[in-house]
Amino acid sequence: MTETIQDGKVVTLHYTLKLDSGQAIDSSRSGEPLKYLHGANNIVPGLEEALAGKAAGDKIDVTVPADKAYGPRNPQAHQVVPRSAFPPDVELEPGMQFGVRDEQGRVMPVWVTQVGEEQVTIDLNHPLAGETLHFDVEVMEVRDATAEESAHGHPHGPGGHSHDE
Ligand code: ZN
Repeated sequence: MTETIQDGKVVTLHYTLKLDSGQAIDSSRSGEPLKYLHGANNIVPGLEEALAGKAAGDKIDVTVPADKAYGPRNPQAHQVVPRSAFPPDVELEPGMQFGVRDEQGRVMPVWVTQVGEEQVTIDLNHPLAGETLHFDVEVMEVRDATAEESAHGHPHGPGGHSHDE
């Protein structure tokens, strides 16, 4: 029986991700394929929706609008913070991601966009916010998640989540 992609399946796939400009910004094809647990928000919603019902061997091209990927870009979401807000031993570079706590204590991701002597500009937008994403995907394998994977909400093993401590 052919396994089709649905909630509770671990999916192994190869993908190339391009922007509207045609620029390829990410690809699994030079290394390990990606593994994700379907229905667990491991990947952007628009791609997960498009993969439902697919099976090993299927190749699809998926265009995902920003609202089903990393959301719209908020141009007001820049903040300038003192360099001292970051650990002194960290070499800050544009593109680095940090977690900051908001007033409710929730951890929110922020990205460094500019690094100055005294001040650092951070952006609350994901670097791909506002972008339409084009995925070219080949499904390699579909299998049932183990009980442990279902409990953790992500796949284990090569290409999956590692718990090496
Ligand atoms: Zn785990």
